[in-house]
Formats: sequence, structure tokens, C-alpha cells
Amino acid sequence: MRGLMQDWPLLCHRILDHAATMHAERLIISRSIEGPIHKTTYSEARHRALKVSQRLERDGAQLGDRVATLAWNTWRHFEAWYGIMGIGAVYHTINPRLFPDQIVWIINHAEDRVVMTDLTFVPLLEKLAARLPTVERYIVLTDPAHMPETSLKNAVSYEAWIAESDGDFAWKTFDENTAAGMCYTSGTTGHPKGVLYSHRSNVLHSMIATAGDAMGISSRDVVMPVVPMFHANCWGIALTAPMNGATLIMPGHKMDGASIYQMLDDYRVTFTAAVPTIWLMLLQHLEATNAKLPYLKRVIIGGSACPRAMTEKFEKNYDVEVIHAWGMTEMSPLGSLCTIKPEYADLGGDALLDIKIKQGHSPFGVEMKITDDLGRKQPWDGKTFGRLKVRGPAVARSYFKADDEDILDDEGFFDTGDVATIDRNGYMQITDRSKDIIKSGGEWISSIDLENLAVGHPKVSEAAVIGLRHPKWDERPLLIVVLKKGETAGKTEILNFMRGKVAKWWLPDDVAFVDEIPHTATGKIQKTALRERFKDYILP
Ligand code: ADP
Repeated sequence: MRGLMQDWPLLCHRILDHAATMHAERLIISRSIEGPIHKTTYSEARHRALKVSQRLERDGAQLGDRVATLAWNTWRHFEAWYGIMGIGAVYHTINPRLFPDQIVWIINHAEDRVVMTDLTFVPLLEKLAARLPTVERYIVLTDPAHMPETSLKNAVSYEAWIAESDGDFAWKTFDENTAAGMCYTSGTTGHPKGVLYSHRSNVLHSMIATAGDAMGISSRDVVMPVVPMFHANCWGIALTAPMNGATLIMPGHKMDGASIYQMLDDYRVTFTAAVPTIWLMLLQHLEATNAKLPYLKRVIIGGSACPRAMTEKFEKNYDVEVIHAWGMTEMSPLGSLCTIKPEYADLGGDALLDIKIKQGHSPFGVEMKITDDLGRKQPWDGKTFGRLKVRGPAVARSYFKADDEDILDDEGFFDTGDVATIDRNGYMQITDRSKDIIKSGGEWISSIDLENLAVGHPKVSEAAVIGLRHPKWDERPLLIVVLKKGETAGKTEILNFMRGKVAKWWLPDDVAFVDEIPHTATGKIQKTALRERFKDYILP
């Protein structure tokens, strides 16, 4: 017998309808690319998103067409997402920090028909345009007054383009499994892979993210996604904030410590999210200026492991709760968040920090397991490492244009490529990427643990650990360190600091001091580049 409840397709534009009805006057405040601060409301954003839909349809956009965006977080990018989805087209966010050749590859693979771009990326696209045959039109996210002279095909300013429609338009309705958005994973090896979100997965992901033990965003929050909309689906925030009627603060293109601080302070942001690199810059700014964070309550830190020292500083010095989170593009992206369950509520000091540096537990809608190389489930004892696998309604089942390739195991789980432990209360801790873990004498050494430990040294600004070939042990760890400006330190000082805090045989065999550590387009340490650079390095 079937239930007798309504069929209400889970479509993303319903989120904006809800925000515009229930939270009509709530503000969206953005730092514009042109400079000034811009303010709008959910109600106005919906009206303009409808204009985007109407205009796209007039231009011939069809269900399933891909519309690329190369843009920072602003109100125009936000409206464009909903306008694109509202006629069943697919927003395709592109990370502008990718190598130009990767951008070309991705646009061609996605067969984007339209590219919406911020002013910032017009020169880049002009260089690439001859190699982008599928693109019929470029829309520059600006007004006619700031529209540059450009050779881009059929280029038009966004404001002039939507001015030609009146917004008297109704969203299209279609099956909730229709594609809504697309994001390519960086692909540190091989070509990037396209993850194709559906309306249903995006809406469910927003509900998953909304849970109290996840992001727990409400209409009383002032939310600033510093994480760009092009990084892993904006960690869901471009959908979760309007779903819950939160004020939305969009930081635009300025990500330095001073600019981020200014937005946090001027608009009394209560909730924000970004990768550790951003928070490193903010903390340095705060320390240099003695500024405080009186309004900020919670910060989500993820994308790569949040160092213990960072959690400690936010919580002790600024009274801001850190929620360490883990996820990936293939998971829409949230997988786990480290909020504190009653089991750990009585902990304090170092014991609590030991928990808070874990990547946390999964909300309803994400199932996890850890297995050995043969796929056998490993115990949740907080010690045993295993390959981390996940299942849920917002987890990818295959990649764009590769739907015939089965990437799931027999139980329908997706292998994340991460290695992790899970404790008896379900707290997961990433030990490493499976390709970065160091195999020494048949045992595993976590490069992430060593990096976290090294950045706890007061003179260390950033650290990376890679495994180098070793005649006896197979691989041994090399610690690569960037010191803070003006500091000097030797190998012994750093290693002595680490001694006693990890098993003796985990201690790196050597320390290399460098001026800079290379990063991927999403701010992760680029281990492949480091392995290449140090491939002939001789350990003592
Ligand atoms: P990209 O490489 O494009 O940034 P993702 O954002 O999808 O792609 O990267 C996902 C990977 O990032 C995860 O599989 C994991 O290795 C790493 N990661 C994400 N969050 C964390 C975290 N909190 N701690 C450690 N690693 C993390």
C-alpha cells in the first residue's frame, strides 16, 4: 500500500520561493567586484532570478543545457544559480584557480553553451575563447557602465541582458531527479571528473546541512560563505542559507585577512565557513591588529585538516566555536561535522581538543564505513585505519559522461579515497589520502597527523609531510616546513618539539625548509608537486 501524501518535487527554486515568501526582506549583502557594497533582499533576488530564467529561455536554453559560471560569491552569482536551475538548465561552477588548460578541458567536456563571468576573468577567457567552440555567448556579471571592450563572442553585461525581461515568468517544473548543478573535482591525477548534482540531491543536502548537529543555520544567523560557490557546491551554503532565511553575506573577490575581517565585523556575521588557509590569514590579521570577533559564533573549517592550533586559537582567544567538517565534491559535499555529542560534553581542555580535531560524525543522510583493502569492514575503535566509504542521497553514483562506469561497491558505497578511523561514538578522523599515507616497514604513518603537529610549533607557518623511498623501510617521512616571516629554526628544534607527541618511529627522518609550499586550486597542499621536487632528496 502506498502512502497518501502529496507529491511535491524537491526542486531547488522552491528554496528561493520559500526565502522570498517567509523571509522576503532578509538581506543579501555583497562586496561587489566593481568595489562598493551592494544590498538586496531574498524577494528581489527571486525576482531577478526569474528574469535570468526568462532571458535564458528566450536565448534558446533547453532542459539540461550547461551554463558555466566563473565568478566569486556575489548576489549576481547567487541569482544566476537559481535562474539557471529554474528552467532546468545546469549551473556549472568553474574554479578560476585551475590551470587554463584544465579550464578549457572542463568547458569542452561539459559542452557549456553560455559562460557567465566576473569582470576579473574576462582577460583569461579572451585568451581561451578560440579553444571553446561550444560557447555561444559570454555574459559579464556587471552593469553597462562597467562593461569592458571585449572580443568575447556575443558579450553582454548581465544587467543589460536581464533588463530585457520583465520577470513575469514561472519556473519550469520537472522531475526532481533532473540535473541542477555541476562541479568538477580538481583531479590531482588524470582529467577532472564532473559531479552532477540533481535538484533532489541539492534540496536533500540542504536539509541534511540544516540539522542542528550539522550547520544548524537559522533565520537569526548572519551567514558568510567565504568558501567560493565554485568550490564543492559552496559546501551547500548557497542553498542552505535561503532555505533557513539567514542573512547572506557574500565576500566577493577579496579573501585576505583584513577584507574578511571587515565583512565579519561590519555585518555582524554569526556563522562562516572556509578552508584553513583563509583562517590562517584571518588569525594573522587579528593578531597583528589586536582585533576581536565579538559577533562570530561558529566557524566551519574543512576542505583539508584543521590544525589543532587553529581550533585552539579560535576557541580560546576569540570565543568562536570551531566545527571541523569533512566532505568532498562527490558528496555535495558534506560528509561529517564535528559537533559535540553528550558522550563528550563533559570533556574540557586537551581532551576536548582531541575530539574537536577529528572530522566528526555524519548527519542523517550520510552513511559511513571503513574497510580494509579487501573490502572487509573494520571496527569502530578509534584506532583501526580503513578506507572510508560513504552512501547517501547526495553522494555521486557516477561521473558526468561516464554513467556506465560503476564506481560503487557491492553495498552501493562510494570509496572516498580517504583513510580514516571511526570511534565507538561515530567520530571519524581522516588519517590520510590513501595515496599520501606513508608506508614504513609495513605500517602506516599519517602525514596529516605529522603536519598538524608541526604547525603547532610557534615558528612554523605551514608544513607538509611526504614519504620518500627508503632502502630498509620502504618509505620514510620527510617534513617540509615554511617558517613564519622573520623566524629562524633548525631541524633539531622542530623535531624536538614533535618528539614524545607521536610514536618514535613516526618522527620524520629529516626536515627541509622551503619558502613556499605549492597548493592546488582549492587550497590543498599539492603533494604530487612536492614528491616531484624532492624525488632525489637523500634522507640522512
Ligand atoms: P578538491 O580536491 O577539488 O578540493 P574536494 O573538495 O572534493 O576536491 O576534496 C575532497 C577531499 O578533501 C577529501 O576526500 C579529503 O581528502 C579532503 N578533505 C576535505 N575535508 C577535509 C578535512 N576536514 N580534513 C582532512 N581532509 C579533508
